[in-house]
Amino acid sequence: MSAQLYDVIILGAGPAGLQAAIHAARRKVSVLVIGQSSKSSAYNAHIENFCCTATQSGAEMLEIALSKAQEAGADSLEKDVMALDIDNGQYIVETAGGEVLKAHALVLAMGISRNKLNIEGEKALVGKGVSYCVDCDGPLFKGEAVAVVGCGSAAVGAALTMIFYASEVHLVCEALDVEAFLAEKLRQSDVLLHEGRKVVRIQGSDAVSGLVLDNGDELAVTGVFIELGAKGAVDFAGKLGILLDDTMKYISANKKQETNLPGVYAAGDICGPPWQVAKSVGEGCTAGIEAAAYAVKRKSEKG
Ligand SMILES: Cc1cc2nc3c(=O)[nH]c(=O)nc-3n(C[C@H](O)[C@H](O)[C@H](O)COP(=O)(O)OP(=O)(O)OC[C@H]3O[C@@H](n4cnc5c(N)ncnc54)[C@H](O)[C@@H]3O)c2cc1C
Repeated sequence: MSAQLYDVIILGAGPAGLQAAIHAARRKVSVLVIGQSSKSSAYNAHIENFCCTATQSGAEMLEIALSKAQEAGADSLEKDVMALDIDNGQYIVETAGGEVLKAHALVLAMGISRNKLNIEGEKALVGKGVSYCVDCDGPLFKGEAVAVVGCGSAAVGAALTMIFYASEVHLVCEALDVEAFLAEKLRQSDVLLHEGRKVVRIQGSDAVSGLVLDNGDELAVTGVFIELGAKGAVDFAGKLGILLDDTMKYISANKKQETNLPGVYAAGDICGPPWQVAKSVGEGCTAGIEAAAYAVKRKSEKG
């Protein structure tokens, strides 16, 4: 049986992918969006800083976005993509369910997976005090005691930012790994540095109430920011020959969200920070419009 051919296949059902689906489908091309909204970074988030939705629940926002994409005419498939390939100018997409599909154009909107501590309490308390994004959630901890975990510039920057909001900021780090000027800035700040220490457990049942260090010390905090950097799109892009940006972590895309491969577009967190819904939907909109135009042009060239 031959693989079903779509004009545009979108990988990822987060804000970037769903916005791309809405804009592509409204251009009367066939569109399939593959991915699980429940795995989007936004799903468990409480979104306060996005201008354009009445709800602050990430899950609700994604549900609305998916219905808008479907109303616009996009098909959806709640699967993960396992492999991408190219054959004679068409892109081949293989899902974890064994489906093989083809497309004239692709939009890559698979987000990023934030590096985790993988310790007790972390997973259960995401969105309940555990966060991977100071820019997003920092203001929610006004006047509270928080901890930042990590040793690099992202962690130190996050700790220094949190000084403006929190009553007390701890930085837990095995060995500080930043430029001298940033280390000095940290030393001159009110951040309480726990160098040479690891976090072994995050405490709390419904919300974070503290964390435990490897020497048995307990820190009474209501927020834990895990700033260990983020895994990028390297693995996925590598096989297809998609170029990454200078950091070698994110897909390189221009203002039309074009990658170096004709017909392949990228949008959202996968293109790098700031990791925000507003940026993701903006890039998704552009990628959807451009991918649809590419598919139409390619079909007309083929006759
Ligand atoms: C705790 C938390 C709080 C946040 N708070 C805010 C906030 O207040 N304001 C704000 O603007 N932003 C916030 N963010 C960031 C925001 O959620 C992201 O910037 C946004 O979701 C990025 O959208 P995206 O579509 O690029 O990626 P995502 O939303 O992460 O979506 C990625 C999609 O790709 C899919 N996918 C991944 N791999 C594959 C694959 N192989 N095959 C198929 N599908 C795949 C996933 O299942 C998912 O559907 C927060 C994030 C977190 C984690």
